[in-house]
Amino acid sequence: MTAGCALARLHKALADHGSPVRGTSARCPAHDDRNASLSVDQGEQGAVLHCHAGCAADEVLEALGMSAADLFDERRQRGSRSFEVVATYCYSDEHGEPLFYVERRQPKDFRQYRVVGGAKAWGIGGARRVPYHLPQLLAGIAAKSIIYVVEGEKDVHAVEAVGGVATCSPMGAGKWRPEYARWFENAAWVVIVADRDDKGREHARQVATSLRPVTGGVEIVEAVHGKDAADHLAAGHGLDRFRPAEPEPGAREWWRQAYRAGWRAAMRSARAGSGQQ
Ligand SMILES: [Zn+2]
Repeated sequence: MTAGCALARLHKALADHGSPVRGTSARCPAHDDRNASLSVDQGEQGAVLHCHAGCAADEVLEALGMSAADLFDERRQRGSRSFEVVATYCYSDEHGEPLFYVERRQPKDFRQYRVVGGAKAWGIGGARRVPYHLPQLLAGIAAKSIIYVVEGEKDVHAVEAVGGVATCSPMGAGKWRPEYARWFENAAWVVIVADRDDKGREHARQVATSLRPVTGGVEIVEAVHGKDAADHLAAGHGLDRFRPAEPEPGAREWWRQAYRAGWRAAMRSARAGSGQQ
């Protein structure tokens, strides 16, 4: 193991973020800090950090585009890359202008970055946070399509691949923000596909609570195969084959069925239309 490499990594990330370390202190990237509230130092196994204003370590790491694993000295050996970037997802504003990007890595891990002056700047920084594929989401709402809210970007792509309209919030389960709800205003029907674990179900309930007041209706469903929407679709099940995860209080079942039947008919005629060209 290379003692100090994690600390060097942390120093560099802070410098790149515009908060260079002086001695063992830096301005905290996770809050509006004017007092160099962040202490960084060498610990027994790697770098240690502490925000004296009260930010959690993972909030500080998130602002820097780092994960807890980056704080350990033994993670990367002599420049050999211990991961592979398997996908890059672009979050854009309502006009399609890129706001920030998410790198999906193997082994599974995610990093956010912006492009500043043509270079990668790790973390979301001050970029606006919006739902994934926002322009498609807004077009789907205008077209009265069913909106699928899934847990991750991979699931969004899986739903889109079979003709649905889907979105997710940045950084997965537990990171929903109430401000995202405004983008769903006037959505006719929202189907939240919960990942089949406690964190996923909790996230789905949080999203449902947030979206119920601004939409025509919300239901929570789960995959019939695998853990998430991508697994379900990869196994050959359709968008209309998710199983209800929770009875929706006061849901108008007949209306939901009628709505879906209408939607399927619309999808069929759309496919027939494109087939004729
Ligand atoms: Zn802080």
